[in-house]
Amino acid sequence: MLDLIIRGGQVVTPWGVGDWDVCIQGDKIVAITAPNTMTDDVGRVIDATGKVVVPGGIEPHAHIDAPIMGPGNLRTAPPEQVSRAALFGGTTTLLDFAIHHPGNTIAEAMQERTNSWRGNSYADYAHHLMLLGDIPQRTLESLHEHIEDGWTSVKIFTTNIRPPEMSGEPRKVGMGHLHDLMTVIQRHDAMLLVHSEDDDMVQYMYEKLQREERNEWWNMPQVHSNESEDVSFRRVLRVAEWTGAPVYFVHVSAREGINAIGEARNKGMAIYGETLHNYACFNANNYKEEDGMKYHTYPSLKSPEDAAMLWKGIAWGGLHTMATDEYCTDWNLKIAGKTVRDVTGGHNGAETRVGITYSEGVSKRGMSLQRFVDVTSANCARIMGLYPRKGALAPGSDADITLIDPTIKKRLTMDDFHISDYSIWEDFEIEGWPVMTIMRGTVAVEDGRLTAPAGGGQWLPRKLDREVTSRPIG
Ligand SMILES: [Zn+2]
Repeated sequence: MLDLIIRGGQVVTPWGVGDWDVCIQGDKIVAITAPNTMTDDVGRVIDATGKVVVPGGIEPHAHIDAPIMGPGNLRTAPPEQVSRAALFGGTTTLLDFAIHHPGNTIAEAMQERTNSWRGNSYADYAHHLMLLGDIPQRTLESLHEHIEDGWTSVKIFTTNIRPPEMSGEPRKVGMGHLHDLMTVIQRHDAMLLVHSEDDDMVQYMYEKLQREERNEWWNMPQVHSNESEDVSFRRVLRVAEWTGAPVYFVHVSAREGINAIGEARNKGMAIYGETLHNYACFNANNYKEEDGMKYHTYPSLKSPEDAAMLWKGIAWGGLHTMATDEYCTDWNLKIAGKTVRDVTGGHNGAETRVGITYSEGVSKRGMSLQRFVDVTSANCARIMGLYPRKGALAPGSDADITLIDPTIKKRLTMDDFHISDYSIWEDFEIEGWPVMTIMRGTVAVEDGRLTAPAGGGQWLPRKLDREVTSRPIG
């Protein structure tokens, strides 16, 4: 007896797209069959006629229940809020960060995350380790144990991002520390996530704009510039070539970043690129709008030409994942800073990512359904070590499934969002939107209502395939 069949939809599997039935037992997919093959003794049949059936989205890059820099002990939205919104938007797995400060241990950072998430998430989840500043020797030496325990990815920054009075504790990892970290990453088949900008250039530009009294927020692309991305990506890639470490560049924002990644992959290096749907759909001209700082996410929005190149990379190759840099605050906090020195970065987009990528990618630009699944789900699963449990509609995979209605055409309103009191996507015109989400075999969102059990999300241990860490896949 089957618990659930999703019948009559256009199903996107690793081996192709077709009109098939997805058969589910318990929390797993057990078969993908020709239409109406399995007929008797089914718990529930969902009619998916006219819908596109894809693996649940996987959000590679979110800051959830994370400390907000600045006065007070404010934090970004917690797991229950973000995971709920994510399910409404067709995303069933979230990855955020366990922050390791130089003063504590990785084990403490992991425990803090576990306390925050366990029993509080609607969606499944995992955490990247985030290392800030100089990396202590004992941290490097213990890293392999955590990798073996399923924490297979580490994030670092090559810049402090903000000017000294706003940046809090140092984030920047210098090139010597980076070399040693990459050596460990390479040896133990982990993935290194890098926020890559040239700190000298960034800090120089903060000082220069201060001197010239040009601190308005819309000058942000002069601080976090194309040139800085170009120079920094290439330095990181040189060290990756010396050490053989795989690198995943978070929030690629400029054509120079895409080019650097492409050149490295052509040499056979295991290099991957992520962009954000807000970077691909908006550009530096939007900063000039009233309250245009609402669009800001670090590094910065770039030119319309850069945004067009990001779409090209997502739809046709060159970039590998669409993420959000989720960092959900309320409206008042988001627009409180008005200068390049004090704006609040980040974006509440975990809910809109899948729908916007479908609408802008598939409906408007003719991107293939297979590629849509790769950039919203499968590639993240492969690169972060969740495949094929996640990211695939295939026998044996978790039954995380999103149904998209390609006929929905409208402008998004606040009723479409289930988190925060603002969205940069309000009034955005869409064609195609997620209408149903199934998580490990249970219907989680249906007819605009959440039916998932509170706290039903599970932590996911991960393991990376050597194929992914030693050569460029995807
Ligand atoms: Zn981020």
